Amino acid sequence: MKTDGQVVTLKEAMHYEVLPDGSIKCTLEPRQCIIHDGERGFCGVRQNLKRKLWALTYSKVAVVDIETLYRHHFYHVLPGAYFLTVGTAGCNMNCQYCETASISQATLEAVESEYATPQMLLWMALERGAVGILFAHNEPVVDYEFMIDTFKLAKDFKLRTACHTAAKIFAKPLAELCRHLDAINIDLKAFDEDVYERLCQGSLKTTKEAIATISKLANVFMEVTYLLVPGFNDDLEQIKRMCEWLLKTAGDEVPLHFIRFFPAHKMKDADPTPIELIYERRELAMNMGFKYVYGGNLFGDKSEFTYCAKCKAVVIERSEDGIPTLRMRSGRCEACGNAIPGIWKL
Ligand code: SF4
Repeated sequence: MKTDGQVVTLKEAMHYEVLPDGSIKCTLEPRQCIIHDGERGFCGVRQNLKRKLWALTYSKVAVVDIETLYRHHFYHVLPGAYFLTVGTAGCNMNCQYCETASISQATLEAVESEYATPQMLLWMALERGAVGILFAHNEPVVDYEFMIDTFKLAKDFKLRTACHTAAKIFAKPLAELCRHLDAINIDLKAFDEDVYERLCQGSLKTTKEAIATISKLANVFMEVTYLLVPGFNDDLEQIKRMCEWLLKTAGDEVPLHFIRFFPAHKMKDADPTPIELIYERRELAMNMGFKYVYGGNLFGDKSEFTYCAKCKAVVIERSEDGIPTLRMRSGRCEACGNAIPGIWKL
C-alpha cells in the first residue's frame, strides 16, 4: 500500500491493550506508553490508529548490510561468517552517546528507508551467502513483529538468528522472541538505576531480568556488552557490583565485553574512554572469575583475542578489521581440547 509516497505495510502490533477511552497502552516494555488515536509512542514507530496499534517499521529497513558479527560484539558466534544485518528507524530509549542517532532518534519520515519484507530479507540473505540474520543498528525491540516474522522464516531455511539489544522488554514478549533466537548480545548500560535513566532513559531492573531469563535458556547463546562511559558508569565500585551480579546470574562463561566509548550524539564534547581504563576493568573482571572478558572498539588489540580458559592459548586471533584466525577444532581449543562456549557451526 502507498500513502504520501511512502510504502506502508499494515502490521498490527502484538502486545497492547485498548483502554476504555480508545487510547492504547503498549505492553511490549516497561515504558507502557499511553497512545491516543493517531499518535505514536515514545519510540516514534508504533502508532494507534482506530483502536489498533500498528508496527510502523515492519518491512521498512533503514540499514541492510552483509557483515561479520565482529563489530556487533559477538565473539563466540560463528566468527568470520557473514550475516545479513538489519536496522530500522526508532528506539525505546535515548542514549546520550548513541552512534546511530540519525536513525534511532529521528522520526520515521526523516529516515530514508527501503521496503523489504521478511521474505525479501530472507531472499537477500540466501542470495548473498549469509549464514544468518542479525537485527541491530537501532533497538530491535521496537521492530518486534518484523524481527519475529523474519526469524521464523530464517529458521525454516536453517539460517541463524541474532539480535543486539538493550533488552528493555517485558518477560512475556521476550520469551516469545527467544523461541526463534539463536544468539543475543545484551547492552548493559550501567549498574546504577539512576545513571541508567540519566544516560539512556533505560531500565536497569528490566535489563537484569532479561539477562537472568536468558541465562537459563539452553537454546539462546548470550554475550554481554558494557560500554565504559567515563564519569557515568566506569567507577570501580559500580563495575565490581555489576561483575558480582553477572557472575552469580549468568555464570563465569558468559563473554563480557568492555567497549570503548567515542564521542557522539549529545556527548560529542566528551573524551573517549582511555584504553588503560578498559584494560583495568577487563583485568578486574578476569580476577573476579570471568573466563572470557574482552576489550572492544580497539580494533585488533590483544584484548579482543579469545584465549582458552584452561591453557591460555590464543584460540581466536582478530585482525584490525575483525578477520579471525581460529585455532579451534569443533568448538575446542586446538592445543588442549578445552571446550569453548559459543556457536561454532551452522
Ligand atoms: S515500544 Fe514504543 S510505544 Fe511501546 S512502550 Fe516502548 S516506546 Fe512506547
